[in-house]
Amino acid sequence: MTEPQVAELIAHLGDRLVLDPETVAAFSRDSSRAEPQGAARAVVLAASTADVSAALAWAHRHGVPVSVRGAGTGLSGGAIAYPRGLIVSLERMNRIIAIDAGNRLADIEPGVITADLDQAARAHGLFFPPDPASARTSTVGGNIATNAGGLRCVSHGVTTDAVAALEVVLADGRVLRTGARTRKNTTGYDLTSLFVGSEGTLGVITGATVRLKPVAPGTPRTFRASFDDIEDAGRAVTTIVGSAAQPEVLELIDRASVEIIESFQPSGLPLPGAALLVGQTTGLDAAARAETILQLCREHGADDTEIADSDALLEARRLANPALTARGLRVSCDVAVPISELAAVFRGIDEIAARHGRQVSTVAHAGDGNLHPSVQAGETPEEYRAAEAVIDDITRLALSLRGTITGEHGIGSVKQHELPWQLDEVALDTQRAIKAALDPTGILTPGRAI
Ligand SMILES: Cc1cc2nc3c(=O)[nH]c(=O)nc-3n(C[C@H](O)[C@H](O)[C@H](O)COP(=O)(O)OP(=O)(O)OC[C@H]3O[C@@H](n4cnc5c(N)ncnc54)[C@H](O)[C@@H]3O)c2cc1C
Repeated sequence: MTEPQVAELIAHLGDRLVLDPETVAAFSRDSSRAEPQGAARAVVLAASTADVSAALAWAHRHGVPVSVRGAGTGLSGGAIAYPRGLIVSLERMNRIIAIDAGNRLADIEPGVITADLDQAARAHGLFFPPDPASARTSTVGGNIATNAGGLRCVSHGVTTDAVAALEVVLADGRVLRTGARTRKNTTGYDLTSLFVGSEGTLGVITGATVRLKPVAPGTPRTFRASFDDIEDAGRAVTTIVGSAAQPEVLELIDRASVEIIESFQPSGLPLPGAALLVGQTTGLDAAARAETILQLCREHGADDTEIADSDALLEARRLANPALTARGLRVSCDVAVPISELAAVFRGIDEIAARHGRQVSTVAHAGDGNLHPSVQAGETPEEYRAAEAVIDDITRLALSLRGTITGEHGIGSVKQHELPWQLDEVALDTQRAIKAALDPTGILTPGRAI
């Protein structure tokens, strides 16, 4: 990036182009263990689609690598900076343009904080279903770009199920509109889905029309059940998900994670022998369904169960990531397995932990079969590599059970080496062909995600 090139970009963007190295550094990382690939030259604090379009057209012309950033809560190193690259930040494009209650849709800019959209929808008796544990800090654009999951997926699906239409700036600066406001739409290829989960590699999402759902009537019920054997907890989840009880949330916190959360911030989680299931039911029959779920837990060996009206247990679950991070448990993954394999994956993780002589602590969106096992990173590079070897073995275990290497966080930069473990050459070639068609000069988030 030469000085005349920078001047050309300033002419387009004025003070929305920031060159100050301290500010640039602040936008150069995400919440993963990945380090920026180098010092970026500038950050675009985009205020409009036109800003993003000007920035990408410029980067396309001059061959400058671009990283795209929402709130930087990503856990896969997808938003980290490139050497002498440009960072496009969407955090200032944070307007909720309209809540279209009649059609249960919201029109938004990508930088809207997930929980803010949910809150705004609730004023209309609606809610935004995607509910990552980071909802109070992540952006909806970032959720779409990673196809984020979260606590309510077991009942409402993942982010892609809530996206009706997108506005996307392509790598050469052109603006593409996908999808429709209708319930049904079979016009052309499903480009909306193509951009969901594309992790900033195919285009920059500058607008979205997302689907809202009505808030269920009645008082939600929160439940918990303690297990002395984590495999029993896995079998209980398989049974619950296959039953008609339909929890809204079904999470697992193992004993080590409960200890870590409680020492980080006491939140009233009881210490289980091996694992705690916590969840929620909603609707007029919430209490009856919570009781059915706890009965199924007892049939699978749960010895201490409780139903409550408050959200405290779920709040405690949301603390897991910050608590584990504060403890140095930074090497983790987000593998997913078929629901029927939960007991097998927990058994396998115990065996891997024993073989490596390491403690593995696991929290899971259990109802989705999506696990977050974590290992202490250690101080030295050797300790770090040893921790990564544990996580690599857990990832291979999930694949051997017909699972996936990432259920919700995406590949980013930290899981690149795992891609060929899951995708064969034909699948990889197809992905590369899509990338080449949409970003022929390879400026957008190069070398990541696929
Ligand atoms: C405490 C904590 C809890 C979490 N819990 C969950 C959870 O329950 N479920 C879950 O799925 N994730 C979770 N995450 C991970 C993270 O919050 C999600 O991946 C989230 O979707 C990232 O949003 P963001 O705005 O921070 O995106 P960023 O981190 O800024 O970016 C993430 C990726 O999306 C791309 N991107 C961002 N915005 C755009 C855009 N507008 N257009 C194109 N590409 C874009 C970036 O290039 C990058 O590849 C958690 C993270 C933390 C720190």
